[in-house]
Amino acid sequence: MKRFDAVIAVDWSATSGRTRPGPDTIWIAEAGAGGVGEARHFPTRHAATEWLIARLSCGEGRVLVVFDVSFGWPEGAARAVTGMDDPLALWDWVAERLSDGPDGRNDRYDLAARLNAMLPGEGPFWGRPPKLDLPGLPARKVTGGAYPEWRGTEEALIAAGGPAGRPKSVWQLAYNGAVGSQTLTAMAALSRLRAALGGRCATWPFEVASEAPVVLAEVYLAHADPAEAALRCGGPKDAGQVRAMAAGLMGAQEECDLLAPPQDPRALAEGWVLGIGHESAIEAAAKAAAGSGPEKGTRQGNDCFALPPGIDWTPVDVALAALRASCGAVGAPEALELSEAAGRVLVEPVVAARANPPGANAAVDGWGFRHPGGVGGASFPVHPGMAAAGRPLPGGVPAGAAVRIMTGALLPEGVDTVCLQEDAEKAGDAVRLRLPKPGANVRAAGEDVASGHEALAAGRRLDAPALALATAVGAARVRVRPVLRVGVLSTGDELADPAPDASPDRTFDANRPMLLSLAGRWGHEAVDLGRAPDDRDALRAAMDGGAARCDAILTSGGASAGVEDHLSALMQAEGSVAEWRIAMKPGRPLILGRWRGVPVFGLPGNPVAAFTCALVFSRPALGALAGEPWGEPAGFEVPAAFARRKKAGRREFLRARLRGGRAEVFATEGSGRVSGLAWAEGFVELPDRALDLREGDPVRYLPFGSFGL
Ligand code: AMP
Ligand code: MG
Repeated sequence: MKRFDAVIAVDWSATSGRTRPGPDTIWIAEAGAGGVGEARHFPTRHAATEWLIARLSCGEGRVLVVFDVSFGWPEGAARAVTGMDDPLALWDWVAERLSDGPDGRNDRYDLAARLNAMLPGEGPFWGRPPKLDLPGLPARKVTGGAYPEWRGTEEALIAAGGPAGRPKSVWQLAYNGAVGSQTLTAMAALSRLRAALGGRCATWPFEVASEAPVVLAEVYLAHADPAEAALRCGGPKDAGQVRAMAAGLMGAQEECDLLAPPQDPRALAEGWVLGIGHESAIEAAAKAAAGSGPEKGTRQGNDCFALPPGIDWTPVDVALAALRASCGAVGAPEALELSEAAGRVLVEPVVAARANPPGANAAVDGWGFRHPGGVGGASFPVHPGMAAAGRPLPGGVPAGAAVRIMTGALLPEGVDTVCLQEDAEKAGDAVRLRLPKPGANVRAAGEDVASGHEALAAGRRLDAPALALATAVGAARVRVRPVLRVGVLSTGDELADPAPDASPDRTFDANRPMLLSLAGRWGHEAVDLGRAPDDRDALRAAMDGGAARCDAILTSGGASAGVEDHLSALMQAEGSVAEWRIAMKPGRPLILGRWRGVPVFGLPGNPVAAFTCALVFSRPALGALAGEPWGEPAGFEVPAAFARRKKAGRREFLRARLRGGRAEVFATEGSGRVSGLAWAEGFVELPDRALDLREGDPVRYLPFGSFGL
């Protein structure tokens, strides 16, 4: 078996969306060569699936992803539903029928009732909330049905006994465990995940998994229990379990062939728990990971915060991919006259109503004639008329004659070539021309844009060049998105407006004008939401006001995990947070989340960090919300005018500018130095990996212009 570079363990849950990180929400942990990362909490299945797609789409290396759900049902049931024994077909079947929205609401009980109707007997699905009276879904366990209560793998777990306890049946939808509900919602999510990953992913034990870059498998999280308490870090048991399972499998792969095919023939139709038979190797590896915190002893019980960088922090590309997956265009399209649509984003392409140019015309001032063939000079009788732009020559030009023609004039009938004024010599009624190539100095009809062809793609902002083209091809009305309203809110008790007599404990609110200006430059309507103090209620009120008026909110300050970091606390408790510890400098802390459904970018308070994070994350995301394609800054390589050494695990954006063809960087890195922002004209982007850069080595330079400035 090819080694895995990382193992990701997922504690799936079937609850209807919960914002507080507790049990019964989704927990995910990742282990890699450097150890096991912090457990992440996801309030909804949707957010977790998006994160997984993002993590697995752009990751390098081979990854094993394990879920504590059943990948199938007892043999025979899938066939009765889809006609096939293939659980992967069942996943797609469920995905097509289960609605499970971003808010966490789903109709799994209704689907189970429909399934019961398709399957023989009263069940097999049972269990529902007391208030839900759903005909076709018994509240209590049904015995003696057509399908067994257990799959082969559960029989193996029960036979093994041990500390893992008794598994639940996939037919049980509600009450403690609710494995059936988890399985239904997971099948839909797994189907989505497989579709997103395409051929990169194999599902164990149904598919050949020995080489695939991503392998999906099911686990029994209780197998991680002997080590979980040591890895819980103050979180719920689920957080300890996913960390222990990820670390345990990561280590156990050195000892055993985790992907060996199960002996039980039912496994291919039902699925099988990965790790059965390897429990002691998993336990040993998980315990070793628990004991290997780098600052063991000094920060007891808090080893989450003493992990190698890059493990517990989200890489920039992963955060960007997750953001990209979650930001779609908002706002209902409207039709506008082109003259009123400047700066708007197209919902539909602009198709040329007529060709540009509409007819063949002269590209220069000179003489038009039909080319007689041959080279050198030739004399032509002069036609008495003249063709000019907007004043076509009626009647045409007889073969052998030449006519005065001006730039932009439609070619008269009988003319196929234009000779430059400078190459002509008029003598009385004749003109002597130095013959150019046949067809020279002529613009063909439609050579720019043919009639009926797409002139501008959907998603294009109607900037100056786009307006020119739309007009040239005769677009009268266009379908566009409304202008995106971007709120900007500063937070912090210390903030004040600049005033000559301000005391030194006041910080002038530099971020607000900066962020308002950025939002405006990117083509959005910048909405000034003012300042909020470090007070939970005031902040909530400001955020509510912003969410009511805006399509997205940029806040700055209060985004870390400190006692004064109210925005962070508020978002965790009452909003939803998608990503918030991003492996980038400057940058941390950064919140990407939603408040009352409105996307929120909780930028750091530091102006340099706020600016950098706004350019890297907010700009493409706001563009996507506005209906534009995802914008990636166009950088290029130049020699460095500096030397630098950095460790692996974090991307760095250095304030930089080009001088003499080399990138120089601002002398001090301290992100409090606002002067460095005004000094810089772009960033040097240093990669996530370790680097020992010498002067003259190539570095990637990103001019601020490539971020739309
Ligand atoms: P915070 O993220 O709230 O801990 O703030 C980090 C640093 O940035 C502190 O020194 C704050 O005073 C400063 N800061 C926060 N917001 C702003 C702002 N709007 N303008 C300038 N500095 C700020
Ligand atoms: Mg603050």
